[in-house]
Parts: sequence; structure tokens; C-alpha cells
Amino acid sequence: MPKATFPQKIKKPDFGTVIIGASHAGIQCASTLRAKGYDAPITVLSAETQLPYHRPPLSKSYMAGATSPENLALRGENFYDKENITLRLGVTAETIMREAHQVKLSTGEALDYRTLVIATGTRPRPWPGDPVPRGVHTLRTFADAETLRHKVDTTPGPIVIIGGGYVGLELAATLHKNKYRHVTIIEAAPRILARTASPHLSKLLHQHHSIAGVQIRVGIGVKSFESKNNIITGVRLTDGTVLEAAFVIIGIGVIPNQELAANAGLSCSNGIEVNTFCETEDPNIFAIGDCCHFPMANTDTKVRLECVQNAHDQARTVASAIIGNRQPHRAVPWFWSDQLGLKLQTAGLVPHEGTTIVRGAPENGRGAFFHFDTLGKLAAIETVNQPALHMQARKLLAAAVSLTEDQVTDPLFNPMQFLQHN
Ligand SMILES: Cc1cc2nc3c(=O)[nH]c(=O)nc-3n(C[C@H](O)[C@H](O)[C@H](O)COP(=O)(O)OP(=O)(O)OC[C@H]3O[C@@H](n4cnc5c(N)ncnc54)[C@H](O)[C@@H]3O)c2cc1C
Repeated sequence: MPKATFPQKIKKPDFGTVIIGASHAGIQCASTLRAKGYDAPITVLSAETQLPYHRPPLSKSYMAGATSPENLALRGENFYDKENITLRLGVTAETIMREAHQVKLSTGEALDYRTLVIATGTRPRPWPGDPVPRGVHTLRTFADAETLRHKVDTTPGPIVIIGGGYVGLELAATLHKNKYRHVTIIEAAPRILARTASPHLSKLLHQHHSIAGVQIRVGIGVKSFESKNNIITGVRLTDGTVLEAAFVIIGIGVIPNQELAANAGLSCSNGIEVNTFCETEDPNIFAIGDCCHFPMANTDTKVRLECVQNAHDQARTVASAIIGNRQPHRAVPWFWSDQLGLKLQTAGLVPHEGTTIVRGAPENGRGAFFHFDTLGKLAAIETVNQPALHMQARKLLAAAVSLTEDQVTDPLFNPMQFLQHN
């Protein structure tokens, strides 16, 4: 006699969270999930083969030879086992299959997820001209830094850096100051850091680099690369000048790694589109860090930020949402850079137009630029060797206090006192 069958309630397994990208955003998200008591499986996929590492030192202390590879690690080797986080190094996510809630991996496997977090970051913007000869480098990854360090140690002669953004400037400072190399920066825009810093900070940094001995040429482009046997020998500028180069570093910005999302039908523009909760239009998929394009709190603009703090803050926002505490991402953006003995910190986003109040003597290595937008609202504060003031600046911006230009101009203005009374 056949056995009686009873309707069975099958409990679907919780496949947990899969995080694509194991850098500042991805690892912060995994560790915050565990810190908040999330006990479902967590898998983090990394296209790179190194233990996840701090990226900012690559152009600074690591390039100078002052930091060991071990000290770059974001977390110790035991952290992942201890926290029961499956870290898969050298494994790339190739396709997101949204219907099936699966990610197809470079190993051929299909990995199930309940929640997917895309933290794929960015990659260097490709050179827009002809194919480049050998000896032309970019810096994004640990592997790039290793190649560059080897190049610096084995190839004497002048170095040309194309692009006067933060990475180019930091590299120039390190290679000149710590490796005693002759460095020229070529910047097509009328000033260095035109995209991210105020004209005041650009001018200050330009002066400091020039005094230190770094050559900077602004408002001029690169026409072509000079080479012999397909190995770089120089750079021809648009005015016809040829600069000799032992090797060249291109630092002309980055582009978001968004193809995976776009191919899965998720909206992308300058990054993967997310809302204020870092959610894509698929309720099970989030995007965080350098790869996402998000609405900036208290403004009507969307931005894609390239800084560690934003990657960390968005990771925390998403970890909270996954455990059921959905809160909008409201953090004030901030960024730092270290070069030529200057600690540069920016809180907020520098407005394109408005008024700037200078406090202290930033040009002499200690002071600040307070930037007000055209409506008279405090929008950003750039500090030079004033870490305490930077912390206060973040609090001022977070509190959205109505501070006036006159108040900041007053020599007796004290941000802490102001915060206490407002
Ligand atoms: C040289 C340098 C210096 C910097 N200095 C500073 C600084 O001083 N201050 C500051 O705030 N910021 C700095 N930054 C920027 C900062 O490093 C980035 O904002 C930060 O790394 C962003 O983190 P992320 O996790 O969003 O992305 P990323 O760090 O770009 O990491 C994304 C990871 O995802 C992986 N990935 C991509 N696609 C896939 C896939 N399909 N499958 C699996 N893995 C994938 C990538 O290989 C990468 O490892 C610097 C950057 C560089 C390169």
C-alpha cells in the first residue's frame, strides 16, 4: 500500500548576502553585518588575489617604501574565518541572474543569494588616444603599485605624470621627495584638481609642488607618445614640446565598474543608479562605494563619490537595511590627502560658484577655506594641517547650521562654541 503523503512546508534556505567586490565598501559591509548580529551566510567575491587592502597608501607610504604589504591589509587574515565570512579571492562575478537570484562566477558556479551588494568600484579611465607603448602605467590596484615600484627602482630618468588629480599629485610628491626623481605633471585643465578642489587649494598645492621641485604644466595636452621599439621615450605636448620620459603614469580619472549591473538590466549612468537607501530598482540588490550614483542628502543633485569615507558610510547604510533597520544615507562626504607634509582634508562638496572665506594661513601650511554657495549656505570646508578643525567642520555641515560669511570672517569665530549655542 502506498504511503500517505502529507503536504510539507518546505523552508527555503536563507542564502544570505553575496557581496561583489572586496575593498573598502565590500569588506566594511560584511564586517558591519556581522557586528550587527547578522547570522546568515556572507560571501565576498574579489577579482583581485590579495587579501583586501587599503588603497590610499598605494600612492603615498607604500610607494615611498614606508609601509609593508602586510600593513596594507584591511583586516587580519584570521578575521574572515573568525567572522564566518567566505572570502573568495581571484573569483569574478560574471553575470547577475536576477530572476534566479544567482550570480554566475568565473569558476563556472552559480551562487545563490537572498541579498546582493554590488561594490565593484572603479578602474582607471583608458587613454583616449592611440594604443600606448610599453612603459605607460596607471595606478589603481596593489598589482599596479608593485609594477610601478619595480619600475621606479629599475628605470632611471625623468618621469612624466599625465593628470593633475589627487593620485597624480600624490605620486609626484612621493616619487620626487622619497625617490629623488625628476617629475613633470601635465594637466590639460587650466588648474590642477579642477574637478575636486577649490581654486584656492589648487593654487596652494601648485605652489607647494613647485617649491618642492615638481614641475607642473597646466592648460596643455598630450599630442602623442614618443617611443623606440615600442618602449616609451617621451611625451609630445600639444605645443610641440617633447618631454623625455623613462616612463609615464596616466592619472586621468576613473570610470565606474557598472557593466555587471547594466547587463542585468539595472539603470546606470555615471555609476549604478541607487536611491537614498543605496537600493537599485531591484529590491534585493544594493550598490555602494565608488561604483554608485546616489542622491546627495539635503540637495537635489546626484553624485558618484570616490573616497573611502563614502564607501564605509554607504556600507553601513546597507548593512543596517539588510538587518531590517532601513535608514537613508545622510553622511557628510569628506576626503583626505597627504602630500609634501600637508594634511589636506575636505568636508562637504566644494561648490562651483560662491564665496570663500580664508581662515589662518593655509598658504603657509596651516589654515582653512570656508566655501559658501551662491545662496550663502556653508557647503564645504577645506583644511590644511588642521585635523581638529576638520572634525568640527564635519559637525557644522552635519548639523546644517545657518552660519553666515560674516560670522566666519570674525577672527574670534570658534566653531565649537558656535555648535554648542546653535
Ligand atoms: C592610489 C590611490 C590613492 C587614493 N587615496 C585616497 C585618499 O587619500 N583618500 C580617500 O578617501 N580615497 C582615496 N582613494 C580612493 C579610494 O581608494 C576609493 O574611494 C575606495 O577604494 C573605494 O572603495 P570601493 O570598495 O568602492 O571600490 P574599489 O576600492 O575600487 O574596489 C572594488 C573592488 O571590486 C573588485 N571587482 C570589480 N568587479 C568585480 C567583479 N565583477 N567580481 C569580483 N570583484 C570585482 C575590484 O577588483 C576591486 O577590488 C585613493 C585611490 C587610489 C587608487
